[in-house]
Amino acid sequence: MLHPITDTFAIYRDDVYPYLGGGNKARKMMALDHFIKSNGYNAIVTTGAIQSNHCRAVAIYCKKNNIACALVLHGGEDNFYSQGGNAKIIRSSDSKLIFSQPIDISKKMDKAMSDYNIKGLKPYYLVGSGHTLEGGKAYIDVVKDIASSDFIPDYIFLASGSGSTQAGILAGLSKYNVQSKVIGISVGRKKSIIENDIKRFYGKLCDEYQIPKTYNEFVVTDDFLCQGYDKYNPEIKTISENSLTKYGVILDTTYTAKAFYGMEQIILKNNLSSKKILFWYTGGIYNYFAK
Ligand SMILES: *Cc1c(COP(=O)(O)O)cnc(C)c1O
Repeated sequence: MLHPITDTFAIYRDDVYPYLGGGNKARKMMALDHFIKSNGYNAIVTTGAIQSNHCRAVAIYCKKNNIACALVLHGGEDNFYSQGGNAKIIRSSDSKLIFSQPIDISKKMDKAMSDYNIKGLKPYYLVGSGHTLEGGKAYIDVVKDIASSDFIPDYIFLASGSGSTQAGILAGLSKYNVQSKVIGISVGRKKSIIENDIKRFYGKLCDEYQIPKTYNEFVVTDDFLCQGYDKYNPEIKTISENSLTKYGVILDTTYTAKAFYGMEQIILKNNLSSKKILFWYTGGIYNYFAK
């Protein structure tokens, strides 16, 4: 839902996506619904951090659809059991929880896959963050809302992690011939790595869905990492604390307040305040309630 704040500033409310707790991971997960059911998968193996919006969406999806679910979680078992937010929601699902050091994730996912196979189930291996063609397609489709609105942004800003939301938006802009530039604020990874991932995934999406590769201008900045995933500075904290009164949305320090801070800094530095700006609010309110 496109929510205008002023004549030159709007927020795309992906948080109000009405399934699986909302946000971009819920949208990506629901994009796989048809694929999973039509292929008869009855188990999913995936991974994420203990406050992962992706794991939350998958856990709810599986519980709702009676599908077995194994989550390989990193970030500490003690933290997982003491925190609220997504961890609390995941605890209330029936998912099998496998705690892992980051280095052992793929080994543990493979093991969970073979355990399901041995049990006679048909498991689907879901890449972290829901980085799939179907997930990207969901964002191509959302851009239709923007293209048909009377708010055509000069710039779109969003929090980027795997980059698949940003790549999907870029492919959607190409498909619907919208000229917006898309600026990703990295929440944890290096600029060059995400930009490469986005280029590659954009190309794959365009090939798969027959979209002309018009290559809108895009960039990912890692200037606002504050030392890494889950880290933030006092300005980000202040944005987060004031977000509900100022903008009517909850911005969390891991993703959206970090992106919002980056956006504000970039607007200031480059004199973009007269441009039409769309902040793509990717959801993640549960991260605000994590600790
Ligand atoms: C995962 C996540 C992102 C990043 O999305 P990617 O498609 O992985 O780049 C941004 N915001 C929130 C709230 C998220 O959960």
